[in-house]
Amino acid sequence: MTRISSLNYVEPLFRPPSEANSLILQVTNGCSWNRCAFCEMYTAPQKIFNPKKQNILFSEIEKAAMLYPETRRIFLADGDAMVLSTRRLLAIMTLINSCFPNIRRISSYCLPRNVKAKSTNELKELHDAGLGLVYVGAETGDNQLLKLINKGETFTSTVAALQKLKTAKIKTSVMVLNGLGGKPFSEQHALNSALLVNETKPNYLATLVISFPNGQDRFLAYFPSDFQLLDQTGLFLEMEKFIENTALDKTIFRSDHASNYLLLKGVLGKDKQKLLEQIRLALSDPDKVMLRSESQRGL
Ligand code: SF4
Repeated sequence: MTRISSLNYVEPLFRPPSEANSLILQVTNGCSWNRCAFCEMYTAPQKIFNPKKQNILFSEIEKAAMLYPETRRIFLADGDAMVLSTRRLLAIMTLINSCFPNIRRISSYCLPRNVKAKSTNELKELHDAGLGLVYVGAETGDNQLLKLINKGETFTSTVAALQKLKTAKIKTSVMVLNGLGGKPFSEQHALNSALLVNETKPNYLATLVISFPNGQDRFLAYFPSDFQLLDQTGLFLEMEKFIENTALDKTIFRSDHASNYLLLKGVLGKDKQKLLEQIRLALSDPDKVMLRSESQRGL
């Protein structure tokens, strides 16, 4: 279902791959941070951050409920709907619950700083109102790289947010960006990202490949002039190092976003060796694995 043509979405609209069948409600426009070096999702002039006016949003929820009353999953867009106050989020979720009798899960992207701004009790209230899953773009566990890419977060702030969400019983899906630190940071990016997921044990883990649909210049400006991005082999070697160093029990791992060359799926840890074998095969004999071509990749 994803989007409803009669709702007033401000394009472009993004959602995680796993929300392909969810109804998307755009409760805010853009991202309140919008300063990450690699991210151009919300840089168009019409995407300047602002929350949607409550009366407009509420009438959209009612309209969507009339069209799709059987909806079971709703994704709150855009980049960090969790920046809204708990009071406002609860009002939205209360209306969703009353309009959609079959609703099973409400989800959203979420920045660690959104979580810091809420108490554990507030997060529990949101969970009880239906917030079942948040997608946290950790990007990396490496502090040096987090600073360079202007993420505005640290290893510690990301770990604290993920642990707080867990205490509130809100499931977490963590995203790590393969290739984010190019050649110079590849090893420390892989090792510290593994440390971050080991310490937080998210329910879901996804790796995306850094991509530049509008060119690399904006991103490269954050790094020294001799900075080099990874080629495909470098990306696979980084993934190998990352997976090798994970120590997880039952995290569902997906590397199936449109940006990835190599599609990987499994549960970490039980499928760790199988995933490593697939990566190693892609390195040694790429013709024997299904790789996305450049033209098949996208955002
Ligand atoms: S916080 Fe997320 S949406 Fe916002 S600029 Fe960074 S990567 Fe983009």
